Amino acid sequence: MDVKLQAIRGMNDLLAGELPYWQRIEAAARELFADYGYREMRVPLVEHAELFKRSIGENTDIVEKEMYSFDDRGGDRLSLRPEATAGLVRAAIEHGLLHNQRQRLWTAGPMFRHERPQQGRYRQFHQIDCEAFGYPGPDIDAEVIQISARLWRKLGLGGLSLSVNSLGTPESRLRYRAVLVEYFDARREALDADSRRRLDSNPLRILDSKNPDLREVIAGAPRLLDHLDDESRRHFERFLELLSASGIAAQVEPALVRGLDYYTRTVFEWRTTALGAQDAVCSGGRYDGLVEQLGGEPTPAIGWALGIERIVALMQVAGVTAAEPAPAVYLVLSGAGAELAGLALAERVRDALPGQGVLANMEGGSFKAQLKRADKSGASVALIVGDDEVARGVAAVKWLRTGAAQQEWTWDELPQRLAAALDMHKDSGTNDGR
Ligand code: ATP
Ligand code: MG
Repeated sequence: MDVKLQAIRGMNDLLAGELPYWQRIEAAARELFADYGYREMRVPLVEHAELFKRSIGENTDIVEKEMYSFDDRGGDRLSLRPEATAGLVRAAIEHGLLHNQRQRLWTAGPMFRHERPQQGRYRQFHQIDCEAFGYPGPDIDAEVIQISARLWRKLGLGGLSLSVNSLGTPESRLRYRAVLVEYFDARREALDADSRRRLDSNPLRILDSKNPDLREVIAGAPRLLDHLDDESRRHFERFLELLSASGIAAQVEPALVRGLDYYTRTVFEWRTTALGAQDAVCSGGRYDGLVEQLGGEPTPAIGWALGIERIVALMQVAGVTAAEPAPAVYLVLSGAGAELAGLALAERVRDALPGQGVLANMEGGSFKAQLKRADKSGASVALIVGDDEVARGVAAVKWLRTGAAQQEWTWDELPQRLAAALDMHKDSGTNDGR
């Protein structure tokens, strides 16, 4: 029996028609990071499994059940990266990027998590990632959030809400952990199996449970914010002031703990109500201990990651359009002589119209069929070249989107006149071909 080859579940093909959304997001992000002085960096998709275990944490959902790990032919235990921070930190240490230096960095690309595929949740998904190393104060916390807020504006997205919290230092968190365990231990019968297990391994994660039956017992739990050390409290208060001075509204959410172990102090999440259950669009926080934990010098750090798929979905729901650009020119080539001369002529036209799209007709076809293709391509103008035009060194110029009369230009004047006419077309939205 023939087995039809199909993509792996949860790993999507991104077809050309959908790509304009992606390109718009990526272009906006690239421009934005330049505006704020963040430099792009790229790291491998595959790392030693150990890196993620030591950074994200053994008792997290990602490491416990979502990682794609395998032994390679040399016997090394490797993983497809489930997020970008660990690899960036590893690389920054390895290349000495943090020796007496601060770094503002960003990266983007595919991440892999073995989750149950559903709307907005995939096994290969894509993130844009922003990280700053060497800045201990709350000002950078506000800046990285400013970047994300500006991205939403740039993309025309409204209705996103920002939740923030502070996880304190590892020491204050440990003290809080004891208080929390005591609270939940006395209410074991109200917990589900998952949370009972977490009571020993990672009790803060109980606060993160999505089980509605636990809502009440979680709401009554002692709050981490009430157990912060003084320094973390000052940091958090200043951070809130800076956000508010930047005109960014934020909701303090004491149960926001995030699913990775490496966070300290500031954590945050942008959410939407427009996408159903998969409501997290962008999340991050401070991870002051991670660089040292992975063998580098103590270096404060903060970052966020956004899921591109969810931003695309948001743009579509919000009716933000991202159109595929239509070509400017379609070259109709009718007859053997025209076909022979046509490709060279197309090159001359492209020289004059960089980035605007010049489609040459391929494989002949009747004049009428070619004009139909020209129309369907969305081109503004058809250049019609038959054997007679080749002999005279001219092309008929037919504006496809206006009622302008057909003209005839010589090949020599064609590139310049076309460039000028298309430029005018762009400004006025009409074109009379002169
Ligand atoms: P969630 O609560 O939805 O599982 P998360 O807390 O695991 O999200 P992070 O690890 O913080 O997510 O990743 C940052 C962003 O990446 C998320 O806010 C989300 O937009 C996106 N993301 C995470 N996992 C997936 C996935 N499996 N498919 C698509 N996007 C994802
Ligand atoms: Mg998750």
